[in-house]
Amino acid sequence: MDYKNYIKIVEDWPKEGIQFKDITPLMDNGKAFKSAVDEIVQYAKEKDIDIVVGPEARGFIVGCPVSYALEVGFAPVRKEGKLPREVIKVDYGLEYGENVLTIHKDAIKPGQRVLITDDLLATGGTIEATIKLVEELGGIVVGCAFLIELSYLDGLEKLDGYDVLTLMKY
Ligand code: AMP
Repeated sequence: MDYKNYIKIVEDWPKEGIQFKDITPLMDNGKAFKSAVDEIVQYAKEKDIDIVVGPEARGFIVGCPVSYALEVGFAPVRKEGKLPREVIKVDYGLEYGENVLTIHKDAIKPGQRVLITDDLLATGGTIEATIKLVEELGGIVVGCAFLIELSYLDGLEKLDGYDVLTLMKY
């Protein structure tokens, strides 16, 4: 399926110079969304995943249906101050801004095999930070799955040595 038919490009949003890739038309279309989720599930099935981890907010949209299909759990990675219990945290930079990400300290058990999901790989800062959190808790990142990769930003370089699936490249 050509998923790019379901991505709307919004110029200069949320800041001038950013070409925002809006995935909501893909989510609007039940068949296209299911097909994209199914591709990630197929990819993950061979990896014996224990838990899916995704950064807010669009990492939840991709990761939760995948975890449901795999019958494994989902652990949210969130901005500082959002998770109610004890967390570990990491600072990171992104294509448009700076941030702190957190995960519950007990979200992952040492040795668990983790799939990380997000809607889009840009500079790779978000995914690098998410990997740091998972690995600090003793998780093993066995795959990273994205709907979209912005190849011109070289985010893949930050994922050297990790297995990566992307459904669309720009
Ligand atoms: P990065 O940390 O630079 O790889 O940025 C990835 C995160 O920021 C993802 O969670 C995306 O949701 C969001 N993001 C960054 N750039 C864009 C873009 N051009 N269009 C849509 N989302 C973006």
